[in-house]
Amino acid sequence: MVVMKFGGTSVADAAAMRRVAEIVKTRIDKKPIVVVSAVGGLTDNLVALSKEAKNRNMTKVQEVVNVVTERHLKIVRDLGLDKNGSLVNVVTETAEQLKKVCTTISEAESMQKALVDELLSTGEYLSSHIMAAYLDSVGMNGVWADAREILVTDSVYGSAKPNIGESTEKAKAKLLPLVSDNKVPVIQGFIGRDKNGKITTLGRGGSDYTASLIGAMLDMEAVEIWSDVSGVLTADPSLVPEAKRILLMSFQEAAELAYFGAKVLHPATMHPAVDKGIPIYVLNSIYPEQGGTKIALSSDIAEDKICVVKSIAYKEGLTVVTVNSTRMLMAHGFMASIFQIFEKYNTSVDLVATSEVSVSVTIDNTEHLEEIKKEISAFATVGVVSNKAIVCLVGQHLKRTSGMPARIFGLLGDVRIHLISQGASEINISFVIDEVDLKRVIQRLHDHFFGNSYDVEIFAENN
Ligand code: ASP
Repeated sequence: MVVMKFGGTSVADAAAMRRVAEIVKTRIDKKPIVVVSAVGGLTDNLVALSKEAKNRNMTKVQEVVNVVTERHLKIVRDLGLDKNGSLVNVVTETAEQLKKVCTTISEAESMQKALVDELLSTGEYLSSHIMAAYLDSVGMNGVWADAREILVTDSVYGSAKPNIGESTEKAKAKLLPLVSDNKVPVIQGFIGRDKNGKITTLGRGGSDYTASLIGAMLDMEAVEIWSDVSGVLTADPSLVPEAKRILLMSFQEAAELAYFGAKVLHPATMHPAVDKGIPIYVLNSIYPEQGGTKIALSSDIAEDKICVVKSIAYKEGLTVVTVNSTRMLMAHGFMASIFQIFEKYNTSVDLVATSEVSVSVTIDNTEHLEEIKKEISAFATVGVVSNKAIVCLVGQHLKRTSGMPARIFGLLGDVRIHLISQGASEINISFVIDEVDLKRVIQRLHDHFFGNSYDVEIFAENN
């Protein structure tokens, strides 16, 4: 069995949904289960709707509900499903429900997160119903299955966590009979239900998590994440147009890249699949023939398919805070007292480098920088420089390969480097530079590692 998750752009309109059906058809022998996001942009519209309701702007509420309804009805018509009275009813009844929830939100004293989740869940509710009906109409036995009856979560509305044991039992009981009956279940991503029967959501982008969970709970052979990118690239193509597509990478490499904002899955969403060693494929629903990236356990990747540098990622808009104090010498607890201050102001630190008398950290959230500076200044000197960027090279064999730092920094002789970290992780080397140097640094490193030749079993042209 495989689980196939289609993101918002992959189900944005009738043409996109037709493409999804074509893709699902190619997997029919693998007994697919389909997970869908809301149609592109809809969750953002619903978030905005909840705010209009809170502000009691009921004219605007009505307007947004009309737009949402008309968008779905158009897809239904364009797919030729408007003769299906029950599907049209699903859309119109959902519109009524949306209005009711908005009224309740407008009457409540404060913003009720449970109500927002209920509101947001309608996006996936509608897209999954339409997708299921369309798959059925083209002879693929599509059937709607309700994620709320499968994913049992805690009550942390907005970022609920599923109870794996209970959800697994339900997934087996609800989905396996459908699959054995040659049906193609289509379920909502991102949605669950708590013990009180209230709808929950798993956090923005949570449909990937749903797919990974379903894959793991049903011991599937693969999790396929279909979106509008053809897998993971060796660099950001807006900086390096000739960036290559990575055909195969490890979970650790993918997680490292995700942290640096690369267009890849969020590490937390990969966990359920990773824990069971189920490979995840990142694929493009607009150009399915391009193939994508396979993300697998490093132990499942042959030694000769592991290369030194897989990708070059970066993060911009950083500030470096340097704390100097001779009191650091031989003192214990000094570091802890500094980090407690960052912690107190909810400011997370990306990179850390220390010497005997100083510690430098990078942060991207400067909202509380003044308070932090003030508190640290009570016992040390603080310096702050902004407009910095971290560049991060990721590769499973980076640390084991001797001479890598010399090779990397040898290329950057004329670039000012503020901080270097070879990281606790085996697989990345990161350093901080001035933002203005970013493009030339990434381009130069890319030319060096991928410019002349590359292993065609690990990389491919991206076009
Ligand atoms: N529709 C939700 C969002 O936009 C969940 C998802 O697409 O994964 O965040």
